[in-house]
Amino acid sequence: MASRAGDGVASSPAARPDAIRRHNLALLLGHVHRDGELTRAELTARLGVSRSTVGALVAELTALGLVEESVPSGGERVGRPSHVVGPHSHGPFAVSVDVDVSQVTAAAVGLGGTVLSRRTVPTEGAELTPGRVADLVAESVVQLDGGGRRITGVGVSVPGTVDKRTRTVGIAPNLGWRDAHLGALLSDRLGARVPVSVGNDADLCLLAELSRGNARGCDDVVYVVGRVGVGAGILVNGVPVRGQDGRAGEIGHNVVDAAGPQCHCGKRGCLETIIGDAALLRLAGRPGESTDDRVAEVFADARAGEERAVSAVRTAAGWLGQAIGNLVNTLNPQRVILGGSLSGVLEIARPEIERALARYAFDPGHPVELTAPRFRTDSALLGAAELAFTDLLEDPYLTTPGF
Ligand SMILES: [Zn+2]
Repeated sequence: MASRAGDGVASSPAARPDAIRRHNLALLLGHVHRDGELTRAELTARLGVSRSTVGALVAELTALGLVEESVPSGGERVGRPSHVVGPHSHGPFAVSVDVDVSQVTAAAVGLGGTVLSRRTVPTEGAELTPGRVADLVAESVVQLDGGGRRITGVGVSVPGTVDKRTRTVGIAPNLGWRDAHLGALLSDRLGARVPVSVGNDADLCLLAELSRGNARGCDDVVYVVGRVGVGAGILVNGVPVRGQDGRAGEIGHNVVDAAGPQCHCGKRGCLETIIGDAALLRLAGRPGESTDDRVAEVFADARAGEERAVSAVRTAAGWLGQAIGNLVNTLNPQRVILGGSLSGVLEIARPEIERALARYAFDPGHPVELTAPRFRTDSALLGAAELAFTDLLEDPYLTTPGF
């Protein structure tokens, strides 16, 4: 359990900040975390409090080692430069982990979403059991260089359904997992003093884009991620949609062709067997292992005009447009973000996607924006970091003893 002691700051109960002050500390830290360096004047305007209150809040967060003031580098400002408040250069870091079928990527991520260091371990065809993932994460926590900073938590993205309360992966067909107690396995290895959170990859991709990326300011947005599997992170009226136990958004297992290819989930013709990485490779006449490099080659060849690669991407684009049409009819999003290999499909075959969308959407003329994610292939990794920072951002007095 994380300690809430204030590292020597505000150590007597009488000096502890009241609820409003604590709320304002969290608000200020959140602005700096999401937007980076901000002047005191900007923070004053955003928080709607006095300059002196902002000064006191900045001083308190500085003492906690979470923010620091500096003179901005560069720029052509005339006169005395305004100091800016940014994430502390020695502030805490999160360990974020993106578990994909072909590789596990871990990163040390500082406040502000800065990647301090990273390591990628290819799975090389070996079975990726929950225990092996827990071992890899535990190794990463030790090996990643946080520059002497303290760790605030670990966030793990998995391509499967996740019950947030129990940190259990309900079903991850492409990993062969069912009811995997990943959160408990990680806590066994890391000890109870390191908070561990687990999330679904599409949900975390969306979280990253909401924090600092292309979903900012949107209340109704869907992030469709296509890798070996396909899934969706959904936000409706500003609220993430997860369902009763985290199984909402599994659009990759909507059957679109009952006579289609066999899916890992046991059914045939699921959407991910038609637009997932394996489908792109199969359609391009390149069966075999689904790796990011092999899929990137298909896109490179399609851009160069190689006929079969172009045809594969266009075929997937048509099915993708139909799937987006179904999402639009169900959820009425303002924006649909296409991540993973679907970013490549969007870049190369946007007209095919839009034609199918117009054909299958209830109101073809109604606008919906299709865009790639700002963080590209790092969305899940950065979303997992956001998950690990959640408690600290809600209460900056939350401190976790590092190791
Ligand atoms: Zn399926």
